[in-house]
Amino acid sequence: MKLLEIMNLKVYFNTLDGLVKAVDGVSFTLNEEETLAIVGESGCGKTVTALAILGLVKRAFVEGSITFRGVELTKLSEEEFRNIRGKRISMIFQEPMASFDPLYSIGKQMMEVAMKHLNTSEEEARNLCLEMLKKVQIPLPEQRFNQYPHQMSGGMLQRIMIAMALLTNPDIVIADEPTTALDVTIQAQVLNLFKDLQGQFRMSVIFITHDFGIVAEIADKVHVMYAGKIVEKADVHELFENPLHPYTKGLLESRLKKEYKGRLLPFVRGAVPAPTSWPSGCRFHPRCPKMMEVCREKEPKEIQMNGHTVCCWLYEGDM
Ligand code: SF4
Repeated sequence: MKLLEIMNLKVYFNTLDGLVKAVDGVSFTLNEEETLAIVGESGCGKTVTALAILGLVKRAFVEGSITFRGVELTKLSEEEFRNIRGKRISMIFQEPMASFDPLYSIGKQMMEVAMKHLNTSEEEARNLCLEMLKKVQIPLPEQRFNQYPHQMSGGMLQRIMIAMALLTNPDIVIADEPTTALDVTIQAQVLNLFKDLQGQFRMSVIFITHDFGIVAEIADKVHVMYAGKIVEKADVHELFENPLHPYTKGLLESRLKKEYKGRLLPFVRGAVPAPTSWPSGCRFHPRCPKMMEVCREKEPKEIQMNGHTVCCWLYEGDM
């Protein structure tokens, strides 16, 4: 059943360098208990899409529709949004150390969330927080509860952030590169924990990442984002078996080369262009090994083939 529906979302920022079209006509749906991975390099609009869902892009021009359980989120007042943000839809950020206030204990910060969103007494909030710390496998939770962020490792803080995000038993958790700042062994532990908890809490997840290894582990379906647009959508097996867009293929190839040769290679040649001046036609054309003349001039439309969607002139005749 459909939980979240985004239609033609645009998020533009006016900056001194010009108009930044960070998200430029993005549409997708998220169903109950589904995990959607949004993949792409930095600067492609993944995080801004997530922030728009949470109503956290106040100084931007926002157009399009975001409906959650039939409620249009773009029309909500700040006060109405507070009943959704952090309660029905919560977010886990990339950098655990920067996400906590260094001046307050972990327990105090967790209790504040519980009391604000669940109207619990202090004692109920404390019990709930301790229970959540146990669920995310924090050793000696009573002791950790009174400690401060600087007394925890990055992996432990990330587990506590997951615990905080799940305190209200949300319908949707948006996880923005939640394991990127962790070392590889801890990454795998946090990812496994996250998968376990997703089953227990039966939540839907939007997982933002640039790492196809994580996508293979966690996602049901995948949307590949480039230069403010979604360029390919498919379920996870279809995408790995039959990637269509040259950008997706480049990302997948780099992952394999990285794994097999043990060193980091650039994803695809070149870099994501500045968002104040996206290239004409297909925005990927300056980096694309398959570029044709039409790609410079005309933007490719979305083409659907057997439940797989791609924006690329290569498939124009295959509809
Ligand atoms: Fe490459 Fe052209 Fe397809 Fe864009 S439309 S990805 S430039 S082949």
